[in-house]
Amino acid sequence: MNFNSDEEIKPIREAYLPYGKQWIDDKDIQAVIDVLKSDYLTTGPAVKKFEELFAHYVGAKYAVSFSSGTAALHGACFAADIGVGDEVITTPMTFAASANCVLYQSARPVFADICEDTYNIDPVKVKELINDKTKAIIPVDFTGQPVNLDEINKIAKDHNLIVIEDAAHAVGAVYKDHKIGAISDMTMFSLHPVKHITTGEGGMITTDNKEYYEKLLQFRSHGITRDPDKLIENDGPWYYEMQFLGYNYRMTDIQAALGMSQLEKLDEFVELRRKYVSFYNEAFSKLEQIKIPYQSPEGNSSWHLYIIRLKLETLTVSRKEIFEALQKENIGVNVHYIPVYYQPYYQQLGYKKGLCSKAEQLYEEIISLPLFPSMNDKDVNDVINAVKKIILLYSR
Ligand SMILES: *Cc1c(COP(=O)(O)O)cnc(C)c1O
Repeated sequence: MNFNSDEEIKPIREAYLPYGKQWIDDKDIQAVIDVLKSDYLTTGPAVKKFEELFAHYVGAKYAVSFSSGTAALHGACFAADIGVGDEVITTPMTFAASANCVLYQSARPVFADICEDTYNIDPVKVKELINDKTKAIIPVDFTGQPVNLDEINKIAKDHNLIVIEDAAHAVGAVYKDHKIGAISDMTMFSLHPVKHITTGEGGMITTDNKEYYEKLLQFRSHGITRDPDKLIENDGPWYYEMQFLGYNYRMTDIQAALGMSQLEKLDEFVELRRKYVSFYNEAFSKLEQIKIPYQSPEGNSSWHLYIIRLKLETLTVSRKEIFEALQKENIGVNVHYIPVYYQPYYQQLGYKKGLCSKAEQLYEEIISLPLFPSMNDKDVNDVINAVKKIILLYSR
């Protein structure tokens, strides 16, 4: 028997390590059970309380919960009065939902290229794309690193645009002493299980603007209001009015109870993510074949994703071979993201490849590594050892 070759084919890990995963403890489970035994499964006290706690956490006046982050983005586009004939500028280096929400409102997403260093939307490119039809900007705090909000908000102010910040990656992140969620006109968070804290599915908009707040509340519940001050007529105590076309985008009390319990652990989750990132940075900064994520000193990322960029000229194979080799080591790698307008639906709408060359180049060279708070030091070391092994194997 040849022990050497056995050793070679043995993966670094026995068990598959996913790229992201929720962390649910007994307190979370008990919180959900308590609601199941209570009078309200939905639209009860838990939703309201969760919204208050969330708003307080980010330092915003209001928070409105939704059935998903995507529904929340749809609500924000509605509240911003985005409609037919309008254009909204966003980044291609994001999940499709950041642009789809503009299409839901029959408006047109316009893609601005990214910065070479942060991978966030480039304010210079945003400025170039503004015209009479431009109504809003949807910047994304990509990977958890705050976008250049001073610059984006200044551009928005100069051109009378609304900023809907997609902070699906960035709950707990900080930009110049302010928590993300308290800076833009509206900020969206996702509570999907791969994100920092979860409600199964869920989303949130935070804002300081009362008018947006009231519109969001009404939009997520069919466009219906019971507020006596808002009713056009009032036939009696049973009376309500559907004043515009809304949706059922409500979060349940079951979800909100889980959300409140998770929110208590958010700071700890972010700290653990930052700790694992420091281990990754330390190890990978020694590999000349890899570029580690650049961090702007203006912000403090909450690290939803850890993305390595391959210097392909130093390697004998493409990203695909490196990706597949890491999978064989049982490391749950991923790619964030395929540029949104590469999707067949966007291609059919007439968006052409070549639109944002920096995002397209980045897409060819990136791999997301596992990062989530319930990882342990051994998991982190396995990832580091697997990356080192594969990179050195394919080095020029
Ligand atoms: C997860 C995510 C969304 C959508 O959130 P859901 O809760 O899954 O609907 C939107 N934008 C970005 C950047 C995301 O990562």
